This record gives sequence, C-alpha cells and structure tokens, in this order.
Amino acid sequence: MMDTTSRASTTPALGVREGAGSGATVKSQRELDFMWEAGQIVGLTHKVLRAAVGAGVTTGELDAIAEREITALGGKLAFKGYHGFPGTLCVSVNSEIVHGIPGSAVLKEGDVVGLDLGAIVGGLYGDAAITVPVGVVSAELTALLETGEAGLWAGIAEVRPGRRIGDVSAAIQAEVERRGDYGIVREYVGHGIGTQLHEEPSVPNFGIAGRGPLLRTGMAIAIEPMVNLGTHETRLLDDDWTVVTADGLPSVHFEHTIIVTDGDPLITTKVD
Ligand code: MG
Repeated sequence: MMDTTSRASTTPALGVREGAGSGATVKSQRELDFMWEAGQIVGLTHKVLRAAVGAGVTTGELDAIAEREITALGGKLAFKGYHGFPGTLCVSVNSEIVHGIPGSAVLKEGDVVGLDLGAIVGGLYGDAAITVPVGVVSAELTALLETGEAGLWAGIAEVRPGRRIGDVSAAIQAEVERRGDYGIVREYVGHGIGTQLHEEPSVPNFGIAGRGPLLRTGMAIAIEPMVNLGTHETRLLDDDWTVVTADGLPSVHFEHTIIVTDGDPLITTKVD
C-alpha cells in the first residue's frame, strides 16, 4: 500500500497525499466483479444517507445508518479502524474538507455535509463521496456543489485506455476553474483502488494533460475532487483527522470508483 499520510505526515488519513508516480494494477475479471459489488453497496448506502440528511440530525446518526446499511447489504466496513479512524463514515460539514469524525454535531439548515464511505466485498474495495445540502442552501453553496460534481464528471469522462492520469487531472481543473474562482485542494487527491483502499497512482484534481501514468483496461481509480469556496489551502485539526479549509470557508467533496474498460468507464459506485 502506498503511504496514506496526511499533511502532518505522521498522521495516517483516509485520503492520499499528492505525489505517487507509477500506475495502477490491472485487475482480474473476478476482482472487478467484487469491486462492482462493493461499489454498489456504497452507492446504495449513499442513497439512504442522502434521504436521512436534514436539520437536527447528528453526524453520529448518519454514521450508524451507514454501518447498518453496508452490513445489511453484505459488505464489510472499509473505513472503520483504517489507521484507527473511529467511524464507518467520514462526515465533513461546511469548512471541513475531508475526514470529519462522526459524533454529536447537529446538522442545521443551510449546511453542506460531505459523506465519504467505503465497503469491501471479497477483499475488493468501493469508495465514494457525496456532498449534500441540508435543506435550502445559499446560491453560492449551490454553485459550489454543482462545481464539485461537475469536476468529478469531467474527470470521469477522461477514464479511457490510452489516456493518462494527467488528462483526468487537467479536465477536473479546467471544469472547476471555468465555473469560478474556486480553490482546488492540492494536498489530498484521488487514488488507485482494488485489493487496498488506496493504491497507486495518486490522482490529483489539478495537472497537465498528457502527463502521468497511462490508463489501461482493467485498472481502477477513485476520482475525488475537493473544491473550496475560498483558498485551496488546508489545515489539520487537533483530532489529527479532520481537514478544514485554512480560511474557514466551505468545501465540497465528490468521489466515485471507476473501472477502465474498452468502452465507457464503469462507475462501480453509481446506482440508478
Ligand atoms: Mg477515496
């Protein structure tokens, strides 16, 4: 497994630091089938969580729902205990970017809440994140949510054999920057995925087209843009997990797990 250290480098994290260079492994069909099953459990759990989000709900209640759903669907919990993370779900509210610890915090109208979760089936992983508005949010936050999600889809559109990680990165960056003066997080990035939650290569949300590891059929990556309303700079809270924006402005996070095929990319964590 690659180093999954956080900004402090002594602290493990559920995201990956930018920097790894080599490519992803090509999976067997049996492995890809398990990845699909794990991804569908993640997607179905997100559906339940999205419906459960509302003013007055605690982040700990969402965590309990995630644990119950993943388990009921036959998955194992990918995040709980990962480098000691205490939850099933990373719940990151407003200025929290990623790795928020679920607990007694109460959601309120106008918040945005990031829900990042993973599941394991047959030893293979699925990993995805959504950010959901709590009730009615400001026009500024609505645009931020749309931008984060559009950045993810722009990246996914580049997942084809023969393209490079830099094509994915550049497409995300171009889509986000086209929509406004947003901060794209640099220090935490997407990643290869398979028999480990985090595999090579790292998949930055900014970069130069034509550079980086080559994508081949049977590889799998998790693409996960984190987009801030203000600066791209981050800060780690004293709990050694929660990553927040340096300026305290809100942030959103969207992620899917994607398999490279000969045709359109297969998004394991998407459910209809
Ligand atoms: Mg991830």
